[in-house]
Amino acid sequence: MQKTILFLMLALFSFGASFPSTAVFGQSAGSAKDELARSFQWPNGKRMALSLSFDDGRSSQVDTGLALLRRHDVKVTFFLQGNQIEKRIDGWRRAAAEGHEIGNHSMTHPCTGNYEFSRKNALEDYSLSMMEKQLDAANAEISRLLGAKPRTFAYPCGQKFVGRGRRAKSYVPLVAKRFLVGRGYLDEAANDPAFCDLAQALGTSFDDMNFEQMMKPVEQAAKQGRWIIFVGHEIGDRGYQVTDTKALEALCDYARDPANGIWLGTVGEIGAYVEEHRSAIK
Ligand SMILES: [Zn+2]
Repeated sequence: MQKTILFLMLALFSFGASFPSTAVFGQSAGSAKDELARSFQWPNGKRMALSLSFDDGRSSQVDTGLALLRRHDVKVTFFLQGNQIEKRIDGWRRAAAEGHEIGNHSMTHPCTGNYEFSRKNALEDYSLSMMEKQLDAANAEISRLLGAKPRTFAYPCGQKFVGRGRRAKSYVPLVAKRFLVGRGYLDEAANDPAFCDLAQALGTSFDDMNFEQMMKPVEQAAKQGRWIIFVGHEIGDRGYQVTDTKALEALCDYARDPANGIWLGTVGEIGAYVEEHRSAIK
């Protein structure tokens, strides 16, 4: 009896050794992915996609940003914090009327309590149901004040958890249920359209940079056919959390020049294309 078991074990072992199943499966998954990457094309022969987004609904976005963007005929995504919209309601109405996308950036901007400003509104003290209320209340406020239904969300501070330690949970599924795209922040890579999770799209800061510095990730994204989502805060003279007006103007010119092969679109427009094109491939 024991000999039979030993024989069976040996037989199974040698079967496994002669058919390295993990390598075979790894290979087939890899080639399916390669196939997807090869078949993914940006529209009109573009080499890459670029979205410009601005968070928190800061006043300089209205006072400086809207006129600049109008001059360059560029549409961006403004991620608004629900309880701040009324302060500059005329500006946000103008932004929506001029074709900019209005996205959700939660109601009161909860982040980790390690930021002093968020200690009393800390994600460590949140539950998923509290986070659901944040998302839904901001959507309701945007719809009430601006008549728009956001299809994109930006994670405040780029953070995607609630709670702490063993009880910590990801709130990515809540975002995935409500929005086409959830955008992160302070990420270092651009999105691979054939692979990325739209509920966790990467967001790259372009605050406090000159034009040459902005161009580095853009050139990299063009080489790889990727989608880069820039994230800014104030618009003015370059500094901490300020996107430089001159650099932004130069970037708009560069991105709008057909010779450079860039599809410049809002987060929602490009997200919708990625979603649709990938489901067509499946
Ligand atoms: Zn923010």
